[in-house]
Amino acid sequence: MGSRQINIGGVTPFSATDYPGKFATVVFVQGCPWRCGYCHNPHLQERTRTAQVPWDDVLALLTRRAGLIDAVVFSGGEPTTDPGLVRAIAQVKAMGFGAGLHTACVYPRRLELALPLLDWVGFDIKAPFAQYERITGVAGSGEHARECAAMIVDSGVPYECRTTIHPSLLAPHEILSLAMMLSALGVRNYALQQFRAQGCTDAVLGAAALDGYPGQRTLDAVGSLFEQFTYRRPG
Ligand code: SF4
Repeated sequence: MGSRQINIGGVTPFSATDYPGKFATVVFVQGCPWRCGYCHNPHLQERTRTAQVPWDDVLALLTRRAGLIDAVVFSGGEPTTDPGLVRAIAQVKAMGFGAGLHTACVYPRRLELALPLLDWVGFDIKAPFAQYERITGVAGSGEHARECAAMIVDSGVPYECRTTIHPSLLAPHEILSLAMMLSALGVRNYALQQFRAQGCTDAVLGAAALDGYPGQRTLDAVGSLFEQFTYRRPG
């Protein structure tokens, strides 16, 4: 378990959309070694020497919000980047809050330590594992994602697996083969989310036409593979 304090880059005090069925405070953890073109929070990819929001201030905020929120969601950036993650989760659990995690499945060993403390995980799978580098820019990233996904599915912790889709990054037939692979891995709750231009610094991705993508036939075929399936368009 890490002993230093977690580096928080921002806080959303109240959210009804980041943890299904719960009111949550969302803390955005600094740091991510991957470089996805569609990243909504590129300002959180680098870790600063000191936290933008001291963790003690977050704990003080949570103390004031007792009774108003159900849970704390650790988002990012990539929360498993931070050596202080597991300790921070343990602290909010000790305060009586549920704990949720948004992860892109970057660091399996830290996820393994965090999972027993977590009440819910939203995890991203970006592409067929062999093609991960196309999205993340990092060789071997797909193997980390594969290991984390299997760990989450086997853990019994409630989860949603989700994939952000964009016509330049995943063709409809690739979406379907990814979904088949995830179904075979044991994923039962899956979401496809259309790329959102908001926050994205990649002008080429932002300018692409999304009409008719990925198409109803693909959505129906993907949906038939899972007990729960959600398709999200940009709101
Ligand atoms: S893994 Fe997530 S936080 Fe990291 S670059 Fe990709 S979208 Fe951004």
